[in-house]
Amino acid sequence: MEETTTIDCPYCNSETLVILDGVDGDLDLVSDCENCCRPINVKASVEDGAVVSIQAG
Ligand SMILES: [Zn+2]
Repeated sequence: MEETTTIDCPYCNSETLVILDGVDGDLDLVSDCENCCRPINVKASVEDGAVVSIQAG
């Protein structure tokens, strides 16, 4: 199952959608901002298909 969540873009401060792989555990991925198109490094923790923590940097 594909999990999505939103984060605040560190560049333009607008909310952007992040698509997670649907795997449990720690994820480290790069997601392009929908607004300014810059790549955002995202670290997320997923447990039982739910996002428990997410960090954009
Ligand atoms: Zn942005």
